[in-house]
Amino acid sequence: MRIGHGYDVHTFIEDRPLILGGVIIPYDRGLAAHSDGDAVIHALCDALLGAAALGDIGSHFPDSAKEFENIDSRILLRRTMELLDGKSCRLVNADITIVAQAPKMKPHIAAMRAILAEDMRVDTGMINIKATTSEGMGFIGRQEGVAVHAVALIEDTG
Ligand code: MG
Repeated sequence: MRIGHGYDVHTFIEDRPLILGGVIIPYDRGLAAHSDGDAVIHALCDALLGAAALGDIGSHFPDSAKEFENIDSRILLRRTMELLDGKSCRLVNADITIVAQAPKMKPHIAAMRAILAEDMRVDTGMINIKATTSEGMGFIGRQEGVAVHAVALIEDTG
C-alpha cells in the first residue's frame, strides 16, 4: 500500500465556466488556469502521482505546453491512471476536500464522484468528496479562489 497527497489552488476569473470534478457548476466566474482549471482533478492527479512516486502533474502535463492549453482535465486524469497502470498500481480509495466559500458544492458532489469513478474505472465507493468553507477567512473567504486537498491510497500489485 502506498499513500499520496495532492493540493491545488486556482483563482476565480470572469468569462470562464466553473469546472470542478468534471462538473460544470453554475456560477458567475470560473477558475484561471492553462487547462480548464479543474482543481479537484489536479489535486487528485497529484495525490495519485505522489502515491506512485511518479512526480507531479506539472512534470507530466506542463502548463507551458500548447497541447495542454484549455485541456479538459478529465483527459489528464485518464492519462494519470494510465501512468499508474504502467507501474501496476491500482486505486484503493481517494478522499478529496474542496475548500470554497462559494458556490455551494454539495448539489454537485454526486455527479463529480460519478465522473471521477468513470474516468478512473473504479467504483464510486472508492472516491469520497467533501466540501467546506474557510469561515469567511483569507483568499477563499473573500471568494478570490478555491483550494482542493486530496489523499489517495494505492496498491502496488507489480
Ligand atoms: Mg491546477
